[in-house]
Amino acid sequence: MKHSDVLVAGGGPVGLAAALLCAARGLVVTVLESESETAVRAGSRAIFVHGVTLRTLGGADPELAQRLANRGLTWGGKHTLWAGRTVYRRSYPRPRSGMTPPFSSLSQRDIEAELRRSCLAAGVRLAWRTPVETVSVRPGHVEVGSGHRASFLIGADGARSTVRTAIGARLAGTRSDASFIVVDLADDPLGPPGERVFHYRHPAAGNRHVLTAPFRGGLRVDLQCRGTDDIAGLTADPASWVAPLVPGGAAVEVTWVSHYRFHQSVADTFIDAGRRVLLAGEAAHLFAPFGARGLNSGIADAAAAAEAVAGVITGTAPRDDAVGRYDAVRRAAALRNREATAQALDQLLATDMSTRARQRIAAAAARHSVRAGAWLDRIPYGPRDAGIPGSPY
Ligand SMILES: Cc1cc2nc3c(=O)[nH]c(=O)nc-3n(C[C@H](O)[C@H](O)[C@H](O)COP(=O)(O)OP(=O)(O)OC[C@H]3O[C@@H](n4cnc5c(N)ncnc54)[C@H](O)[C@@H]3O)c2cc1C
Repeated sequence: MKHSDVLVAGGGPVGLAAALLCAARGLVVTVLESESETAVRAGSRAIFVHGVTLRTLGGADPELAQRLANRGLTWGGKHTLWAGRTVYRRSYPRPRSGMTPPFSSLSQRDIEAELRRSCLAAGVRLAWRTPVETVSVRPGHVEVGSGHRASFLIGADGARSTVRTAIGARLAGTRSDASFIVVDLADDPLGPPGERVFHYRHPAAGNRHVLTAPFRGGLRVDLQCRGTDDIAGLTADPASWVAPLVPGGAAVEVTWVSHYRFHQSVADTFIDAGRRVLLAGEAAHLFAPFGARGLNSGIADAAAAAEAVAGVITGTAPRDDAVGRYDAVRRAAALRNREATAQALDQLLATDMSTRARQRIAAAAARHSVRAGAWLDRIPYGPRDAGIPGSPY
């Protein structure tokens, strides 16, 4: 039986962040990851690392925050159009060298690679091809399978979490009927960072909404589909329709395509009855990606989990209080994040006449009102301040 202070199930971004933040507090940590070290996860996926997240990670490893900032890019600005007409546009100032940028945009693969590098430097043990299959909470410790034992287990094993099932927690929420297609395009490596563009009723997409967002090495295109769309046909041949959606009409090379539906779910508890297991990231909640709440809120969970378990292990906090507080605070944050993404989704789908009318009126008013354009620019991502104390996530 191998002993650690903390076991982390899952070596995705949230598990790696949790492990690093625990190690930075002097704890002995082992990450149990079902995949092999060389497995490559396809696609850009979470590309927006918020400045708050950079600072959280920088608290454990300042060089990590710097590497994520340098390896990613900051968009040149944001641009919102309605049926081919600009309704809002704003340039971002160039980030000052040495300062934490407001955000960094890079593929999730690159984010995970940097997190792994920091984990190894901090002495985190990474156990590859080691799926968590059983969890047993005993008086004073938790056992995973027959080989690992620790004071605490952080379950960061993703949407289909084994740990969540093992502690009897359940995800509750909804799944939207609407489908989105996401296409990654290879970018011109020498070109300047482009803008993030949200185009309502894009004429070249049959009046569907289209989001394009640059990340280091690529451009991400999200197409909001209609119920009658042939999703299989569109994902089979994205090159046949995606080029006219690319701002500036640059040549495109498709590197990845996928489709998804919005899940909006939060686990009914983030901890087990014995207060030895804490769920974090997608093991605990699933949000629609608009607003970048998946990865950023998962890393906020990781920081809170590390604080809770370190407090108990180092004897500065009683277990019931620290773990109970984790559940109360992060579950409340998840419910607020879910509400924020639900508001974004209501605006994107605009299924009721009054939402559609408000958007049309704002689009007309944006010809002379910056406020109307700014509102249209903001609503696809949900409220900026979801009311979570001390964090946007
Ligand atoms: C198409 C797409 C686009 C997205 N876009 C965005 C975006 O723009 N912004 C955003 O914030 N988020 C986005 N997301 C969501 C983002 O990818 C997730 O929020 C993020 O990956 C969650 O991280 P995680 O570590 O909680 O889970 P995961 O990334 O799923 O990691 C879980 C890890 O656990 C491992 N694992 C699973 N089961 C076990 C087990 N039993 N034992 C051990 N290990 C196990 C897995 O192999 C994996 O490595 C997107 C996701 C997708 C699919």
